[in-house]
Amino acid sequence: MSAAEESAFDVYRDRVERPLYRLFVEYGTDEWPWLVVGMTANVIARGASLLPPLVLGVAIDSVFDGNAPYTLPLVPAGMLPTDDVGQFWLSAGIIAGSFVVTAVLTWVYGVAANNFAHRVMHAVRTDSYAKMQELDMWFFDDKQTGEVMSVLNNDATNLERFLDDALQNSVRLGVMLVGIGVVLFAENWQLAALTLVAVPGMVLFTYWFMKKVEPRYAAQRDAVGDLNTRLENALGGVQLVKTAGTESYETDRVRDASHTYFERTLAMLRLNYVYRPGMELLAGVSFAVTFVVGGLWLIQGSGPGPLTGELSSGAFVTFLLLTQRFVTPLSEVSTIVSQYENAKASSERVFGLQDIPRRVTDEPDAVDLTDVEGRVEYDHVDFRYDDDGERILRDVTFDVDPGETVALVGPTGAGKSTLLKLLLRLYDVDGGAIRVDGHDVRDVTASSLRSAVGYVSQDAYLFDGTVAENIRYGRFDADDEAVREAANAAEAHEFITKLPKGYDTEIGERGVKLSGGQRQRLSIARTMLQEPDVLVLDEATSDVDTETEMLIQRSLDRLSADRTTFVIAHRLSTVKDADEILVLEDGAVVERGDHGELLEADGLYAKLWGVQAGEIDELPDEFVERARERQAETVVSGDGDD
Ligand code: ADP
Repeated sequence: MSAAEESAFDVYRDRVERPLYRLFVEYGTDEWPWLVVGMTANVIARGASLLPPLVLGVAIDSVFDGNAPYTLPLVPAGMLPTDDVGQFWLSAGIIAGSFVVTAVLTWVYGVAANNFAHRVMHAVRTDSYAKMQELDMWFFDDKQTGEVMSVLNNDATNLERFLDDALQNSVRLGVMLVGIGVVLFAENWQLAALTLVAVPGMVLFTYWFMKKVEPRYAAQRDAVGDLNTRLENALGGVQLVKTAGTESYETDRVRDASHTYFERTLAMLRLNYVYRPGMELLAGVSFAVTFVVGGLWLIQGSGPGPLTGELSSGAFVTFLLLTQRFVTPLSEVSTIVSQYENAKASSERVFGLQDIPRRVTDEPDAVDLTDVEGRVEYDHVDFRYDDDGERILRDVTFDVDPGETVALVGPTGAGKSTLLKLLLRLYDVDGGAIRVDGHDVRDVTASSLRSAVGYVSQDAYLFDGTVAENIRYGRFDADDEAVREAANAAEAHEFITKLPKGYDTEIGERGVKLSGGQRQRLSIARTMLQEPDVLVLDEATSDVDTETEMLIQRSLDRLSADRTTFVIAHRLSTVKDADEILVLEDGAVVERGDHGELLEADGLYAKLWGVQAGEIDELPDEFVERARERQAETVVSGDGDD
């Protein structure tokens, strides 16, 4: 991994601007009806919930206390009943009605808000996955799969929570604050001013809290990231941990990471402990001031101190009830802030992932590669993985006629796999060109190129699913007969029929475990079914018994018959029968010819062959020395794992 690539994710994440705004513009706009319905229902529901205290105040003054006229805001006096009983029932009706309206609209807003949040996130998740999948192999070389998983899981969940809860809670907070303020001032502005005297205190306190808590949330998020990485690492390497007997060492490391997370969580929560009670205390002050001043006002019949005018007992009750309603939405500010912060960080990661540019893309005028004959040319190909890294392939030139088999041999790290990955256009060449039937691979669509070129890799990957599904992978329309034929040709039919459910046996993580040789043959069957025009084989070096090797060899022979075939050859038989052998060393073709010619030339090939065939015991010192140097360079450039 190079330093530049390691941080591809971080680089683009840091460049994301106004991520939440972007989330709304790019994804939220498609779902705006849900948002509008949700918000509207929320606003009306909260507004309706303010009615009962208000109507109760009016009823106390005019129905129970008797003398004040029965008035309701926004309702013409002529429409209201004049007798006490009528006024009483109207009040009861309004109070009951507002409860029903609040309940129904709360349901509506719940449904709408949920739909908005989950629909948006469904789109974000699907889109991010599709974009991630199109990223170049450069990205996946860095093994950032853990991070990608966490974006698609954790970050999506954070955003869901924000879009669902935080958004609606802030609306609720706003409506309650403004609504209560308006009602109180309309009732009695002097007492309202006193009641709300604690509000600036609450705002300052909340501001202080947010300033303090933000860095602690950030620290907590870092810690959870570290903890996840630690766990992922330890689980991924569980075999090493067990065989090296380092369980307690790993437990300690996980404990450390978990402890850091624990401490940072507590540090964050400690602020929350202070915040909520603090807010309640301030609200208590409000309540006490209202109660004392309003109470004295009522007892004395006139405003205490400089306060003037009248206060009715009904208004007093309305004041007390509404003052209490303050606290809950205000103390939710801390949750809203944390969800907002999390969502900001999460959407940065989501867009960071989406923004990583693709290097290998189809040209606008790319054509499909069709009716492939299988002529392949490498024309002075140069390649490096990193722009500033070492040249991995140097001036590689050769061409292959349709139907020929080319074997690539050479020491580990010589560039054999790289050479073939370029043919599949997993990467683009830095110099020269690769042509199939005369078409530069950069001028044809990647999808048509890749369906023309079949690839059988060393480690045959199988998906969770049945044997048949795995063989059919990539040619989903193939019928059972074709699948069976392919399996037959791949020498796999025999063992498949012995599996518990034959072709319908589940394999993969949750199913039957297959041996390396069996997996290999399934992968050959899959490629067989694909009927590629050009074949790329990375022969497995892993130990399989002679019988399995023979079966694999036979199936590969069938697969490569009449097809242009490139093979990274480890088996003597493959090498010997190849039409041409290219010997690679340090990214350059150092020898070429068929088996006989190369033996005669008595160069690197002859030496490698000699060791494999057991004719000489070991390589001459100069080769060993060169190999050591290569390994040393590899370590310096950080490519230790290939
Ligand atoms: P071979 O197949 O002959 O063993 P490779 O083509 O795998 O050789 O590797 C050639 C060189 O390229 C090695 O030095 C290897 O470390 C380096 N290399 C391989 N893959 C990558 C990668 N994804 N990123 C950076 N360097 C790589």
